[in-house]
Amino acid sequence: MATTVSGDGCVRLRIADVQSETADCVSLVFDVPSDHQDRFRYAAGQYLTLRVTVAGVEHRRCYSMSSSPALAEPLRITVKRDPGGVVSNWLNDTVVAGAEIHAEAPQGRFVLDSSTHDIVAFAGGSGITPVFSLLRTALASTGRRVRLFYANRSADSVIFDAPLRRLVDEYGDRLTVHHHLDSDRGVVTPAALTRFLAGTDESEYFVCGPTLFMDAVEAALRELSVPGGRVHLERFVAAVPADTAPSAGAEVTEEVTIELDRRTTAAQYRSGNTLLQTARMAGLKAPSSCETGSCGTCIAQVTEGAARMLNNNALTDEEVADGWVLTCQAMPTTKSVRVVYE
Ligand SMILES: Cc1cc2nc3c(=O)[nH]c(=O)nc-3n(C[C@H](O)[C@H](O)[C@H](O)COP(=O)(O)OP(=O)(O)OC[C@H]3O[C@@H](n4cnc5c(N)ncnc54)[C@H](O)[C@@H]3O)c2cc1C
Repeated sequence: MATTVSGDGCVRLRIADVQSETADCVSLVFDVPSDHQDRFRYAAGQYLTLRVTVAGVEHRRCYSMSSSPALAEPLRITVKRDPGGVVSNWLNDTVVAGAEIHAEAPQGRFVLDSSTHDIVAFAGGSGITPVFSLLRTALASTGRRVRLFYANRSADSVIFDAPLRRLVDEYGDRLTVHHHLDSDRGVVTPAALTRFLAGTDESEYFVCGPTLFMDAVEAALRELSVPGGRVHLERFVAAVPADTAPSAGAEVTEEVTIELDRRTTAAQYRSGNTLLQTARMAGLKAPSSCETGSCGTCIAQVTEGAARMLNNNALTDEEVADGWVLTCQAMPTTKSVRVVYE
């Protein structure tokens, strides 16, 4: 019998296997029904959005694939417990083989492009998940060399430790893994990053991990004047903007006009809300997913007025110049703003 797609684009996927990775991390392997193989085709580095109900409350969370599409493996995500977090702990504690979870089709722009440059990857903690998929895909399907800087608190929190060792044995000098353990050397320092980066010019850089780790890597890459186009970032949480106060010269916004699904709605604006929140307050089902400014699902174009983004890991400078915004991160800055969803 055909599997149905719910109104929000989710499909019910059966869990084929649950694999314990560390004391606080599991991988969930999905069975994708034959009639949805195309829908769940993905690129290394992409993620699924899960819809789960915990204690009667519905939540959506994004989890990157740790499997590689180049190796014909079943779809797999890897979830690390977030202390105090609702969904990550629920997935670690309760999900068993045979359970079913709603998932949207894969999304994300943290992917390999057609470049032939060597790859330099930085992963911190659960940030290894998309990086593990990317590096195995690059090793299996290209001749690119990969260097990984992998930071963890301590040896027992290293996810995919044994598989990484096996890959080093298999690929020899095409793969170098540099482990950094805070328990041995304290947190990652700019000097350690600069040392690791020596001789990596002309590479493509992939970075995923906790905010402070990502900030330190970004700063080290800036210091080396690496062009922004060769740096790929995946943030699991929204970066906290340095300044959330209205920018100088910003007007008080009164009205936001939203064009969505060929309907035009005049929405009241409440100070401090993003354009996405404004659309929701007006009763509109505006597209969204990660809500951290990473995935690009909530993209829309500001065709009148202006808005500034708190965080943008998805749009290029050219797209921003053309008025495109991530509505989950966009704060209007003019008296009236017109937002058009494609
Ligand atoms: C594109 C993308 C890909 C991702 N991929 C992965 C992945 O591969 N693996 C992975 O493990 N994670 C991944 N994440 C992160 C994941 O989506 C979740 O954000 C993470 O699992 C935490 O969710 P949670 O429900 O457990 O925590 P939440 O319940 O959302 O809580 C998050 C944190 O906020 C704190 N908190 C919650 N409510 C409050 C409150 N009222 N006051 C103060 N503090 C509070 C919690 O204590 C916790 O520390 C990804 C995120 C994105 C955006």
